[in-house]
Amino acid sequence: MKEAVEEDFPCLLLKSDLETTEIKWFNPYAKSFLGVEWTSEKKIIDLVSKASSIFYESYIKPILLANGEYLEVQITLLSGSGQRVPAVANITVSGHILYWAIYVAKERDKLYQELIEAKDQLEKKTEELTAVSRRDTLTPLLNRRAANDDVLKMISQSRRAFVPLSFLLLDIDFFKKINDAFGHEEGDRILIKLSHVLLEQVRETDVVARWGGEEFLMVLFNTDIKDIKPFSERLHNAISEISLPSGKPLTASIGGTVLEKGDLEQPNLIAQQLLKADKALYEVKANQRAHTRIYDSVHGIVKI
Ligand code: GH3
Ligand code: MG
Ligand code: MG
Repeated sequence: MKEAVEEDFPCLLLKSDLETTEIKWFNPYAKSFLGVEWTSEKKIIDLVSKASSIFYESYIKPILLANGEYLEVQITLLSGSGQRVPAVANITVSGHILYWAIYVAKERDKLYQELIEAKDQLEKKTEELTAVSRRDTLTPLLNRRAANDDVLKMISQSRRAFVPLSFLLLDIDFFKKINDAFGHEEGDRILIKLSHVLLEQVRETDVVARWGGEEFLMVLFNTDIKDIKPFSERLHNAISEISLPSGKPLTASIGGTVLEKGDLEQPNLIAQQLLKADKALYEVKANQRAHTRIYDSVHGIVKI
């Protein structure tokens, strides 16, 4: 095997003085990297960036004095053509002399940049996928699972500092007839129009979801029974602005209930609230439809 000679080492090898930083010796690789102008009269601080030279004095030197070595320190070299090149240095001390093995880290830096970009892209994709997985397939509303997650968060918040939450189930009136009369596609268009109306009527802190078929769930944050009346009046009015192809207005029935402080300790809170709201909805459907009724623990089901 050929004996190793200085020319063969594919990294910059240098000897420098600890105090003056004068270069005492360098290998051919260092010379070709740093340029022909480069001579041993130069100092370590001439071959690194300004920031790296400050870093040398304030950080590298004290560590070398304390530990006798400093491995994998990141520095920026100035190449012969004046380019700034990221590098990694291993430095050991023997007496007043520092021994440097410096590896140009251009490729490693590139790889690092690529990794950061890949991570950013992955995070963006994950966000997009999460948004898609939370949305209903037809309307711009949340789906049932996402609504469940968000309502659980609202409940936790209410446990920390109580605020009343109103649960409202909305069911379109005679939707089967609408489909039968005007077709399924028109039915879908009406579901989308209604979804936009619901979104317009609620606040950012509320949850609106397509609970299934032609049934929607609204959970209104910091809303109690007295607040539901004006909200439901506005909502029924807005829904009646949606015209069916026959010219008749769309109507929907709403059953609701209000989560009170005493309810918070009970298990399966969401299911329980929905059961109460559903009872109230059933009563509206059994009567005049197109209205709202609320299940209240004291008064039972009340018209509003
Ligand atoms: P009620 O007033 O008692 O609520 O009567 P309804 O006809 O609205 O209720 P019913 O439960 O009898 O019918 C609901 C209909 O909703 C039946 C189903 O075909 C329709 N439906 C459910 N999901 C969709 C959908 O995604 N698109 C369309 N176009 N129709 C749907
Ligand atoms: Mg229904
Ligand atoms: Mg219906």
